[in-house]
Amino acid sequence: MSQAAPRPLIIGNWKMYKTIPEAIEFVKKLIPIIASSPSEVYLAVPFTTIHPLSEEAKGSSLVIGAQNMNDASEGAFTGEIAAKMLTQAGAQFVVLGHSERRRLFHEDNGFINRKVIRALIEGLRPVLCIGESQEEHDEKRTEEIVKNQLKECLEGINPINLANLVVAYEPVWAIGTSNSATPEYMQNIQKVIREFLTELLGDKNAKKVAVLYGGSLNPKNSKELLQNSDIDGLLVGGASLSLETFVEIVNDSCKQINEAAK
Ligand code: PEP
Repeated sequence: MSQAAPRPLIIGNWKMYKTIPEAIEFVKKLIPIIASSPSEVYLAVPFTTIHPLSEEAKGSSLVIGAQNMNDASEGAFTGEIAAKMLTQAGAQFVVLGHSERRRLFHEDNGFINRKVIRALIEGLRPVLCIGESQEEHDEKRTEEIVKNQLKECLEGINPINLANLVVAYEPVWAIGTSNSATPEYMQNIQKVIREFLTELLGDKNAKKVAVLYGGSLNPKNSKELLQNSDIDGLLVGGASLSLETFVEIVNDSCKQINEAAK
């Protein structure tokens, strides 16, 4: 694990799942379980559940955030949501540039760059998702794609303001496919990401950025990835919807640091 994250950061991404009562029931059970966890636990939840869950999470270690937002401060953008609306509802972080947003809603690096800037202005911690498609992977263009996404999504931002940035490497071929990256693969790609962040932001600033992996995680591969690569944590999609599975992933991430401390 890098200096960026002395504690593993585990983020659950609920996507378009869970009604308000379902979400509250989940979080009420999760909070006492993670109370003394050495890992940091974040949940990226549907907009309608941000406020009730933030209220539930008050005084606990659980951090609630959003899965998307618009880049404008406000305006005539029917169906969109502004960063300040998220912070007022209790969100502390926001996932930006998820591959489902890029692929299904045609979000490009320029738009995501403006969202990162807006999130920073409004005090939301940005979780920037990057990752290549299956086709790009097959063409061995992973490095080129990932570096370009980082460069364009962080363009024009003072590196000093990126101390809180989280970069989640989520290859499209691994999301919801049961085809997770191996620890060896991740060790290599996280090194590429770290070196490029150092180039972009300078050594001191880059060291503060947490680099996560996401894609078809389950309790077994999560443990292997955290134990055998230098990633700072995980972005968990489908497996974060079940309390049992998510707790298993969080608990195993704690064991990993306990073992490292021995
Ligand atoms: C995700 O949506 O960020 C994700 C990693 O999904 P899954 O774990 O279901 O592949």
